[in-house]
Amino acid sequence: MPEPRRTRIVPEVDFEKNGTQHGFLRLFHSTHASAYGFIPIPIVVIRNGSGPTAFFMSGNHGDEYEGQVALCNLAKWLTPEKISGRVILLPAANFPAAMAGRRVSPIDDLNLNRVFPGDPDGTVTQQIAWYIENELIPMADIMADLHSGGSSLMYLPSALAQLRSDEEHQRRQLAALKAFASPSAYVTRSGPGGHATASGGAARKGVVAIGTELGGSGTVTPAALRIAERGVRNLLVHVGILPESERIAATEPTRFLEVGGPDYYTYTPEPGVFEPAVELGQSVHEGQVGGRIHFPETPWAPPAEVRFQRDGIVLCKRIPGRTARGDCLFHLGTPADF
Ligand code: CA
Repeated sequence: MPEPRRTRIVPEVDFEKNGTQHGFLRLFHSTHASAYGFIPIPIVVIRNGSGPTAFFMSGNHGDEYEGQVALCNLAKWLTPEKISGRVILLPAANFPAAMAGRRVSPIDDLNLNRVFPGDPDGTVTQQIAWYIENELIPMADIMADLHSGGSSLMYLPSALAQLRSDEEHQRRQLAALKAFASPSAYVTRSGPGGHATASGGAARKGVVAIGTELGGSGTVTPAALRIAERGVRNLLVHVGILPESERIAATEPTRFLEVGGPDYYTYTPEPGVFEPAVELGQSVHEGQVGGRIHFPETPWAPPAEVRFQRDGIVLCKRIPGRTARGDCLFHLGTPADF
């Protein structure tokens, strides 16, 4: 019988110990500059007794900062006395990408959220994915993977759930999504590639998970950060790790949306300079011009029009002006009730 596959990553923290622990996941990486060195992926474990476990991560994409800041703040605010149970924080999940401020790792050029379940004997990013799916996620009763639009996209700040088949699991995901209390929240039905994400990993392990798209543009706004901090705090209340008195009330009701198939997405038809014609949150209709692509090298040429393929609400837009054929310019959501 083959040996079970095991991670090579060594945690400096003891997940079973009470109190607050800070340390690193040691991912051994032998390079020219550091023959016996490791990549230090920071981790925080706060535990008080035998209650439920929450696992929150950010920096899955290194250029998405709202979640990283929210978890840095949470790591300092949470104390064992405040909680019953355990909170595991992994604020810079793809640490090399987070240090570089890039979506993908500069070491192996891999996108962590496209390589789950990973490989314990694979490249750096594949080893991180394996560790998250097979060591961290199984400890959790609830998980949140905090994303935003990163360098190239901007979102209407949202929480999201990727719904899969099991009805009871869906009910628990939607309850967590509502508890996050973001101004917008949306669901997707497991789309192409969904299995290769951290959320896919949570589904494989039967753990309730939600995600976020908190903003983006490669920056942090005070509004997006407030939404992130309220959301993670309320999730801890939702599972009973924090008392009800720590819940932060929403300032507005959540607008629920659904993101469906290819017609929700609008792409650049020709390379050029993108002029958006609509704003985030705006209601648009099928055939409406969402933007134009201009050709400064041929300024007398008419711009190419970008039209929406269905009705919806603008949930996400591209940020950089310069664009190539195949870039995503917008995606829509449609009102949903759940
Ligand atoms: Ca992301």
